[in-house]
Amino acid sequence: MTLLQEIMNHNTVFVRERQYEPFQTDLMPNKKLLILTCMDSRLVELLPRAMDLRNGDVKILKNAGALVTHPFGSVMRSILVAVFNLGVCEIAVVGHHGCGMTGLSCTGILDKAMARGVSPATLTTLRNSGIDFEQWLRGFDKVEDGVLQSVEMIRRHPLLPSGIPVHGLIISPETGKLDLLCDGYVQIQEAATV
Ligand SMILES: [Zn+2]
Repeated sequence: MTLLQEIMNHNTVFVRERQYEPFQTDLMPNKKLLILTCMDSRLVELLPRAMDLRNGDVKILKNAGALVTHPFGSVMRSILVAVFNLGVCEIAVVGHHGCGMTGLSCTGILDKAMARGVSPATLTTLRNSGIDFEQWLRGFDKVEDGVLQSVEMIRRHPLLPSGIPVHGLIISPETGKLDLLCDGYVQIQEAATV
């Protein structure tokens, strides 16, 4: 049986037995919080448990490294939709120790792509079209740098209304322990007193 068949079979039982009932909620997040975190599979259940989050509590955005790499890319668009249309009043960027985006090697990825059949000519064409692979396939040296970069990108975004705290945290993928890197409430207070 393929994985897809397993999923479809499970789903038939899930729906038939009304196992969805404990998860029913509406589209507004109860805690008015949005979390941007990493797609790391160790965090799938660990992060919500470690932060006491249940279905309906938060909006969660995930990508490799919890990164906002472009101020007008899809992550920032989702954040703005959450703030203006879905009642989000607070944002937390949650990176994690042992992240696969630490020291990401652009050449390593491109070498693997070529080993799997992407032709060097394709890469050359893309480079000549203005694609900057080094900039695009970029991680961070330390997870702290990645989180702070994302926090700053969100906090300074020209379309983000004032008064939205943006926190930076790092979670352990083993124990779920959270370390607070920057407290968005403090940043707002400081901005108000300047
Ligand atoms: Zn990660």
